[in-house]
Amino acid sequence: MCASAVGDTIGHFTMRRIITRRLPILFLVVDLLLGPAIAAAPQVDVTYGPLPVFELHSGFWINLHHRLYEEARQRRNADSPGTPKSGKTGKPTLQIAPDSKIVLSSSEQHAWENAISYYAANYVNKDLLFNTELLLLKNQLGDFETCDELSGGKKKSCDAGLPANLTQILEGAAPVYRAHRWPADDRANRAWIKRVAPLVREQGVGLSHRLADIYQTRWPAEKIRVDVSAVANAAGAYTTLDPLRVTIASTDPRNQGASALEVLFHEASHGIAEPVEQAIARECRQRDKPIPRDLWHALIFYTTGEVIKPVMEEEADAPENSAAQNGAKAGSSSSIGAGEGNSRYPQDSEYTPYAKREGLYQRGWENYLSLLTRYWQPYLNGRTTFDDAIAHMVSAL
Ligand SMILES: [Zn+2]
Repeated sequence: MCASAVGDTIGHFTMRRIITRRLPILFLVVDLLLGPAIAAAPQVDVTYGPLPVFELHSGFWINLHHRLYEEARQRRNADSPGTPKSGKTGKPTLQIAPDSKIVLSSSEQHAWENAISYYAANYVNKDLLFNTELLLLKNQLGDFETCDELSGGKKKSCDAGLPANLTQILEGAAPVYRAHRWPADDRANRAWIKRVAPLVREQGVGLSHRLADIYQTRWPAEKIRVDVSAVANAAGAYTTLDPLRVTIASTDPRNQGASALEVLFHEASHGIAEPVEQAIARECRQRDKPIPRDLWHALIFYTTGEVIKPVMEEEADAPENSAAQNGAKAGSSSSIGAGEGNSRYPQDSEYTPYAKREGLYQRGWENYLSLLTRYWQPYLNGRTTFDDAIAHMVSAL
C-alpha cells in the first residue's frame, strides 16, 4: 500500500525507469540469481485456485525471508541510539517464538541468529520495494516455494542459484522456522486467502475490467501472482514490477475483512496505472508546473476505494451475508489472522475506503482529495473524459 510512505513515496513507476536504465547491470544480477533452473510449478496446496485475476500463494521461503528481514529491522531499531525502547518496533524480541514458551535448542538458536546477523549486515538498510537485489531475491524465493531446499543438493531443479552463503543461511534457518513459526504463519495466510477468495471469485473479473477501463489500459492477461506473507514491509503490502507481483501481509490489521479485496486491487493497480502518471506528467509539463510526485498514488487509492465501495456495500446487504454474519459467532474456525475475526463483512454496510480509514489524506494529501473529488469523480461517474479530468486536476494544482 505504501501507506506509511505517503510523504516520501517515489512511486513504483520510478522504479521501472531505474530498472530500465540499469538494464545491463540488472541482467548480470538476474543471471547470477537465476542460475540454470527456473521455477518449479507451484503445488496445488500452495496456490488457491482456480480464481480469476489473481493467483494467491502462501510460500515457505518468501515467508521466512520477510520474517528474517522484519526481525533484523526490529533489532536495528531497538539498538539505534535515540530510539525509544518502548513501542511497537523498539523491543528486542526473538520473533521466531510466537509465544515465549517456545525455547529453541542451542543449535536452532545459533542457526537463527546467523540468519538474523546476515540480514542485518546485508539487507536491513535496503528497501524491500525499491532495492533491486531484494526484489530479485523475493521473486526467486517465490519461484522456489515448492522446494524444501535452495541448493539443489537433493534435487537438481531446486538449485535456486543464490549466492552460496545466502543459500546456507536460509537452509540453516529453514528447519527452525518450519518447526516453530511457519505452521502458524501458513495458517494465517490460508485463513486470509480463504476469506478473500469468494470475493475475488465473484467480483474479480468485473473489478479488473472496470479499473482497466478507468486507466485506459488493459488488465494483464496472466493472473497476477500474490505472495501472502505473515509479514511484509512497513506498509503491509507492496508491489514490484517486471514481473508484476504483489506481496501482502496476512496478519496486518489494515488488510483484514472487507479491506482485503481493496488491498489486492490497489496493489494490482500499481501495475496498470502508468497512463495516469504519464498523463499527469504531460499536463504538468505543458503548464510548466512541477510534477506532484504523489498525486497518481492518491488517485489510485481514491479510485480503488470508489470502485470497491458499491461492491462491498452490495455484498454486505446481501441477505445470505447478513445470515452468515449472524451465525459467525457459532462457528468453530481456527483462524488466527489478526483483525476482526471471521466475518467477511463489517456489521455496518457502509464501506469506508482504505485511504480514508487509515487517514492518508490527512497526512499531506488534503489538497489531492479535494482535486480528486472535484475533477476525477465526474470522470468515474462518466460525466467527463479521462484527459479532461486530468487536465482540470493539474490546472487546479
Ligand atoms: Zn500503493
